[in-house]
Amino acid sequence: MKIGLLREPDFEHRVALLPEAVQKLEKKGHQVLFEPDAGAKAFAPDSAYTENGAVATKRTDILKNAELILTIQPLPVKELDHLQKGQVVVGVYNPLVNKELVNQFKEKGLTLLSLDNLPRTTRAQAMDILSSMATVAGYKSVLEAANRVPRFFPMFMSAAGTIKPAKMLILGAGVAGLQAIGTARKLGAVVEVFDVRAAVKEEVQSLGGKFIEVEGAKDDKDAGGYAVEQSDDFKNRQQEKIQEHAIKSDVIITTAQIPGKPAPKLITKASIEQMKPGSVIIDIAASSGGNTELTQDNKVVNHNGVMIVGNSQISSDMADDASRMFGNNVINFLEILTGENSALKLNFEDDIIAGCTITHEGDLISERIRKAYK
Ligand code: NAD
Repeated sequence: MKIGLLREPDFEHRVALLPEAVQKLEKKGHQVLFEPDAGAKAFAPDSAYTENGAVATKRTDILKNAELILTIQPLPVKELDHLQKGQVVVGVYNPLVNKELVNQFKEKGLTLLSLDNLPRTTRAQAMDILSSMATVAGYKSVLEAANRVPRFFPMFMSAAGTIKPAKMLILGAGVAGLQAIGTARKLGAVVEVFDVRAAVKEEVQSLGGKFIEVEGAKDDKDAGGYAVEQSDDFKNRQQEKIQEHAIKSDVIITTAQIPGKPAPKLITKASIEQMKPGSVIIDIAASSGGNTELTQDNKVVNHNGVMIVGNSQISSDMADDASRMFGNNVINFLEILTGENSALKLNFEDDIIAGCTITHEGDLISERIRKAYK
């Protein structure tokens, strides 16, 4: 299959395939056309792509000629005019939110596969870009906090006195939150964790975190392991409990998200005003509105000496390994997307393909998206 790898927009440092991933695809019989500078921000020069068999190609020629067009960030809507029915576009389109763009793909009869809509099943794990990128974000958020907080993470007993360990609060114990717990514990912080899904308590404890309990959370078994909206009564009790722990924390990392909905506001302005100056909040739920009342996406807000870092692009800050993991996910995904002679095979009987196909020949395919667009 002819795969077109495009350069990402300026704010995105990752690339969907590093040269090493191109090499693996070429060995499987695919041909990769790449836009010059596609990997430059991830430290992958054009020469490395060509050495591994890819062909440097003008963007518009890739759009016209590739059978499968690959990016991380969505294509700009104006570029859909270059595409023909039958071409397949793969990327991360956040289709629960980007409805207008998705409708353009549908109207033009294009096939759009969005990797953030893969089912969260064991079989899909090897291609789950949400998990791999959340792993990067969880790790990097702790390092970002360590870099900004004017205190040590570990306890120190030295001739210059005893230094208490930093107190960290992590909100949301999904993939990013669990990775953040592990990283923070390795650096010696004392970690408290809250999640509405009580099921994660044991995982939190096994990583050395202390789970904060709030009775009566709705843990919807039909939501595929995701969080669901909570009752007002629960939210009020949760708010009080979080506030109690937040104001004592040196670092807060917030990762709480609900697919297709604004992120829950877990930390109020009033709580932030009671935190010690110098404390740091890293909010990686910033793209869906953030978990604090003061978060601004891709900005650092200094509120009375408390830094609130809203960074929804945090995995882009680790462009090399993040691109490596993304590329491995893509290779695993292409394994099931291709049949004999590496030709494209869209089998909608396969729950992975059906789950991540958003539009095809003028229809919405994914059940989840169909329901959301009703
Ligand atoms: P996510 O990014 O959607 O959310 C992060 C965390 O925030 C979740 O743990 C969620 O419960 C929590 N949260 C939401 N609202 C909250 C609130 N009001 N207060 C506190 N916490 C709140 O989560 P994710 O990392 O994508 O994981 C979602 C689910 O998918 C998990 O059950 C995870 O185990 C599962 N999963 C499965 C696979 C797989 O089998 N392929 C892969 C990854 C994740």
